Amino acid sequence: MVPLNKVLVVEDSTSLQLVITTSIQTVDGVEVLKASTLAEASSLLKENEFLCAVLDLVLPDSPNGEIVELVQGNRIPIIVLTGSLKSAVQSTMDSHLVIDYITKRNIREIERATATVRNIYNNQTMKVLVVDDSISFRNYMASLLHDLRYPVITAEDGVQALEMLAENDDLCLVISDYNMPRMNGIELIQEIRNSRRRENIAILGLSAQDDKELISRFLKSGADDYMRKPLIIDEFYCRVFRCTNAIAYMRAIREAATCDYLTGVSNRRSLFDVGERIYARARKGQTTMATIMIDADHFKQVNDTHGHDVGDRVLVAIANVLKTALRPTDVVARFGGEEFVCIASLNKIQDVDLVCERIRIAVETQQFELGDGDISITVSIGATCELTSSFGEMIKLADEGLYRAKKGGRNRCVVV
Ligand code: GH3
Ligand code: MG
Ligand code: MG
Repeated sequence: MVPLNKVLVVEDSTSLQLVITTSIQTVDGVEVLKASTLAEASSLLKENEFLCAVLDLVLPDSPNGEIVELVQGNRIPIIVLTGSLKSAVQSTMDSHLVIDYITKRNIREIERATATVRNIYNNQTMKVLVVDDSISFRNYMASLLHDLRYPVITAEDGVQALEMLAENDDLCLVISDYNMPRMNGIELIQEIRNSRRRENIAILGLSAQDDKELISRFLKSGADDYMRKPLIIDEFYCRVFRCTNAIAYMRAIREAATCDYLTGVSNRRSLFDVGERIYARARKGQTTMATIMIDADHFKQVNDTHGHDVGDRVLVAIANVLKTALRPTDVVARFGGEEFVCIASLNKIQDVDLVCERIRIAVETQQFELGDGDISITVSIGATCELTSSFGEMIKLADEGLYRAKKGGRNRCVVV
């Protein structure tokens, strides 16, 4: 699904509109559309699908917050801008689409609005599982989460929740009730924590029970946070955001540690981690692996002719070609400089020649459109399926093949 990325900003003061728009545009991927009146906002709403809206409560043609009703009618999450927090909260409190209130003319508050927009934008990739035996409460929570743009799935008890966890490894938050048939919330959390750690998935416990001990039991079993029913919507939003933000930070840290900063494919360290694991499986006969080393030919000339920046962009493009030439489950890594290593799972060992040729031809036939005319590139490839004494030794063998491919005239593959 294509993520929503348009933010509607409605504010009649030109200077404030500029400050808010400038701040929100710092969120990567987001586009701001501006309006100064209810009428302008109305026509933008007809022509666009919005991620969320930042709304001034008082406009020339909307003196009493009519703009909020209009935007709510389109089921768009709203951040309210107001001069007086108290009156704004009172006038819009019964609407769960209003997710935050920002006091105008306070730069810190405008930064907070921007952080909320960033959260809502990121929420679209943070899948949540809601577990509750009451269908009405389950649907109610799902609708609150939908309003924050989270993808949501639901389960009616712990047993069903575990099935859904097994099928959805992209889940990042589980919100679970305590009292449920078959398996209660605490038992469910303990089960989840047997296989998935806090860095991987956040858990928010819920209960209507007036039992003080329950809170600590939830937390000790592995929940990150706890809430009492009935929900206070504002508090619910804050706690959910906190849980998913923590997971987003963890994902970013993991990505920085395992990805190459330039091309986004695996870095050398991650290649060895993953490579050793695949090697161990191949040793047990569970998979057939090819280790393939790829080096761009005469790459120094690309830099010398077009500049280092273009060279960088060619490397990014080569990494993308490698990804498309292989299966999504295969590994593509930057080994260093203009050298890449791929690990491909094969149906049979004999396929290694085909796979290497496919990579070679994919690069050779690609025209890299980078500024001053197209650039063509070739690669030399060395590969092996020989499970020698370690993954590191496989790399050495592939490198030997690569050396021979270079010696043999480049733009060719040698399987050792
Ligand atoms: P060969 O066909 O023998 O591999 O020739 P080559 O020029 O590709 O090999 P050589 O090892 O002589 O030079 C590698 C070049 O790759 C030189 C270096 O500046 C360039 N290179 C390495 N890393 C990067 C990078 O991150 N960005 C850019 N733009 N160039 C890089
Ligand atoms: Mg080279
Ligand atoms: Mg090289």
